[in-house]
Amino acid sequence: MGSLWATLLGQKGYKVTVLERRPDMRKANISAGRSINLAMSDRGWKALQLCRADEEVRQFAIPMYERTMHDTASNLTKQPYGKDNEAIYSVSRGALNKLLLSKAEQDEDIRFRFSERITHLDYEHKRVHLKNEETGEESELYFDLLFGCDGAYSAVRQKLQTTDRFTYSQTYIDHGYKELNMLPDENGKHKMDVNTLHIWPRGEFMMIALPNPDGTFTCTLFLGWEGEYSFSNLKSNADVERFFKTHFPDLIPLIPDYLEQFAQNPSSSLMMVKCKPWNHGNNILLLGDAAHAIVPFYGQGMNAGFEDCYLLYKMLENNGWNFTEAIPAFAKMRQPDGEAIADLAMRNFVEMRDLTADPEFLYRKKVERLAHETFPQKWVPLYSMVTFSDISYHNAKIEGEKQDIIMNEVLEQTFRKGNTDPNVGLDVLKQILE
Ligand SMILES: Cc1cc2nc3c(=O)[nH]c(=O)nc-3n(C[C@H](O)[C@H](O)[C@H](O)COP(=O)(O)OP(=O)(O)OC[C@H]3O[C@@H](n4cnc5c(N)ncnc54)[C@H](O)[C@@H]3O)c2cc1C
Repeated sequence: MGSLWATLLGQKGYKVTVLERRPDMRKANISAGRSINLAMSDRGWKALQLCRADEEVRQFAIPMYERTMHDTASNLTKQPYGKDNEAIYSVSRGALNKLLLSKAEQDEDIRFRFSERITHLDYEHKRVHLKNEETGEESELYFDLLFGCDGAYSAVRQKLQTTDRFTYSQTYIDHGYKELNMLPDENGKHKMDVNTLHIWPRGEFMMIALPNPDGTFTCTLFLGWEGEYSFSNLKSNADVERFFKTHFPDLIPLIPDYLEQFAQNPSSSLMMVKCKPWNHGNNILLLGDAAHAIVPFYGQGMNAGFEDCYLLYKMLENNGWNFTEAIPAFAKMRQPDGEAIADLAMRNFVEMRDLTADPEFLYRKKVERLAHETFPQKWVPLYSMVTFSDISYHNAKIEGEKQDIIMNEVLEQTFRKGNTDPNVGLDVLKQILE
């Protein structure tokens, strides 16, 4: 995200130095960190369009128009994400990062300093202390403006945490994740449907799979750390084999080396950060995960960070590029969105792992979809507001809560009385809205 923001500033003629603690990922063989791919949706595309990178990203983005749910008997249920051709896109994290980096570097006003870790921020004197990760050399850099785009464990934020009235919470959730790679078939093709996000909802845990352009799928198991179904209970190959045979039997022939991968691949933790304010005075601003790290279940973390850049850019454009005004104003305006998407992402975890296998939930989704098609001005499902619109996350969350109350009433009058025809649900909803 730092590269994207640098590109946008560079396009306006500002001189930018990007400090990156890792080596240049285009030269060094390092992973892009975290998941191998991620889901890009409208908010992310908008920012990419603004920095004129969207067309290139589309070259390697795979549209996913629906969710495909796999039950334990290998039956599939499909559920469109939006209407018409609305899709979320599976994008390689590494390819995206490299492209944005190269794009930023084309601008001679933007300078990258790799392997330079910010070790300390001295906000009073507007300087950062740096340590070169390869040579160990230490240095200082003075700044006019500092944008802390340094991720969930942000060094910039850590310093702001020591300032008066800075409010901060960091929460590790009870689940972690592990990635498994599904290789292509003997013809180099994907082994499952490509244009869909696959989900194996199992109540307290779930597996998902997103397609990659090379014919592979990246499968991610989200599982508790402790308890009956947990990483701590999957110690031996026999434990893992039993677990897969019971819960993911259809994956076994598709990932024949799942036992080796399970043993070798790391299990990683998931956390979220909420903090306030995102600015320090009018020259330091946190953006992206540094300001709002969230759990990945809405596929919005990166999208939210990209949208930060888009909204800040638009605010600056409207105020004549007055950073002094925009930095505190943006922090105030945007912070409730960071909190809202953090909460929505947790809520979506329950929805994905639990409810996608629940007949009442599937019925509700059908009614909402019909409503969105029939009277789109009056009914936009929460998922669509978050994924396919630019309604603020904060307002989407409030609307979603109102919708829950209304849909509860619809379900009371239909599904819970044994009526499973979504058209009847639509009529009831229409009456309530009139
Ligand atoms: C399993 C998983 C799946 C996900 N899936 C999705 C998805 O489908 N869709 C989506 O939108 N989001 C997803 N996300 C979230 C997404 O990965 C993050 O929101 C996004 O990467 C945040 O970007 P960022 O630039 O703010 O931070 P980062 O990507 O963490 O980048 C921060 C950069 O700062 C550098 N840095 C850190 N500290 C220092 C320092 N002290 N000095 C100098 N440099 C430093 C780091 O090396 C790094 O390059 C997922 C996350 C996880 C964990």
